[in-house]
Amino acid sequence: MATIHRRKALKLLASLALGSASWAQVQSSPKRVHIAIVGGGAGGIAILSKLSRMAPNAKITLITPNEIQIYQPGQLFMAAGLARGSEMRKPTRDFLPPGIQWIRAKVAEFDPKHNRLLTDEGKELFYDLLVVAVGTSYHYQRIEGLSRELVGRGSIASVYLNDPESGGLQGGTTTWKWLTAIHQRLTSNPSKPVRLLLTHPSTPIKCIGAPWSILYLASHLFQGGGPLPKTKGKIEVTHIGPSPLWQRSPYRQALEAVQEKYPNIEVLPDYELIALTPERAIVAGQGGERELPYDFIHITPPMSGANELRHSPLAGEREAKEWMEVDPKTLQHRRYPNIFGIGDVVATPGGKSAWTILYQSRVVAANIVAQMEGRPLPAQFDGTTLSPIKTGYSQAMVAAFDYEDPVKELPLDPLKPSRIWWWLDRYLAKPIYWNFLLRGLI
Ligand SMILES: Cc1cc2nc3c(=O)[nH]c(=O)nc-3n(C[C@H](O)[C@H](O)[C@H](O)COP(=O)(O)OP(=O)(O)OC[C@H]3O[C@@H](n4cnc5c(N)ncnc54)[C@H](O)[C@@H]3O)c2cc1C
Repeated sequence: MATIHRRKALKLLASLALGSASWAQVQSSPKRVHIAIVGGGAGGIAILSKLSRMAPNAKITLITPNEIQIYQPGQLFMAAGLARGSEMRKPTRDFLPPGIQWIRAKVAEFDPKHNRLLTDEGKELFYDLLVVAVGTSYHYQRIEGLSRELVGRGSIASVYLNDPESGGLQGGTTTWKWLTAIHQRLTSNPSKPVRLLLTHPSTPIKCIGAPWSILYLASHLFQGGGPLPKTKGKIEVTHIGPSPLWQRSPYRQALEAVQEKYPNIEVLPDYELIALTPERAIVAGQGGERELPYDFIHITPPMSGANELRHSPLAGEREAKEWMEVDPKTLQHRRYPNIFGIGDVVATPGGKSAWTILYQSRVVAANIVAQMEGRPLPAQFDGTTLSPIKTGYSQAMVAAFDYEDPVKELPLDPLKPSRIWWWLDRYLAKPIYWNFLLRGLI
């Protein structure tokens, strides 16, 4: 059985990795220019690796503070009690091709009119071409009564909590502790129902499937589907917030079908969490404000482009004011043509995921090389996003869409929960991330 899954998963993988064909025709440029890359996470390292081969004579400078790379999708498996943080980290230096200059600092100021960057250590840097890959910032404090420091303690969890700057993966570890605490409550006091809330903000978020994954992994865990025994206690689970997946057909139908297995889940898509006390969540929506008592709560935080970016001239002027304004197809900045964006930071209408970066990195690399050669930009990003949704322990489906298709046609139905999707997500995605995506090989 496992061999069949492995074979099917590998076939599926090959089709996902091939993606759009234009990537294969990309050329290189011998020009001597200075390319600066700001942000050294998934997007920054993937584009760095590609450009170091395609622009062999360019001077490339990476400006990023993090000595460690983290595999953020692994936080969900840590939260499920299936993996440890040590499996999700690698040194940044292992991914840097020879000849790259690395400035271990943050960019504090973007000055695109003068092609200039200023680091938080006061160093000035000038570039010919710039790629911005600074990711997101979380804003737990926008929920009244909540702060980042309160998350991961006692009744409040958030699988998202991490720190790409220091390599912290707190969300994975603390969410597993939180799930075991709920499990213990259900086991030790089965006559008292536990009220569990899970929230979704109205801002765009990275990995659109993750809030649903936590919902279903938790529900399955308490039914005995995971590494802990089945509980006898009663649990009332409420998912609150405007998740685009619940609002979009046929995703809603697919999620409703999953929930037939978990009849204690209620979804309140028209409300958003605005304030929190130790016992109550205050949610607001068209019907006004409501107070929901809770015992345990999982927060998906409001997100924006990284703080230094959202306060810079590169952020959107009229729309998407907290994200980097790019042409959604070429990924070139709308007002500064020598600047490109990649990863979670860009204000494209699609999703934000590591798989998205795979497709974006091909486009950005091809367009930068063309610009170096004075040619029109040849490559267009079609918005491809793949975001796995764990529908329980050992089953997953995938939110798979692009700018045109609400559901991408793939060799295996993305909306049908299957062991193959789980297998791909659990066992193949991480080696692909480290060995191919970050090395610019796909
Ligand atoms: C819990 C969770 C589950 C996920 N699950 C999945 C999944 O299953 N599948 C999937 O495809 N994706 C998933 N993702 C999303 C995926 O991890 C992200 O989309 C991806 O890591 C984004 O890469 P990035 O380069 O845009 O940002 P990041 O990887 O966050 O990197 C940003 C980098 O910029 C640096 N930086 C920030 N500010 C500055 C500055 N001012 N100057 C210089 N450097 C700066 C940071 O130190 C960091 O190195 C998940 C994410 C989370 C949190």
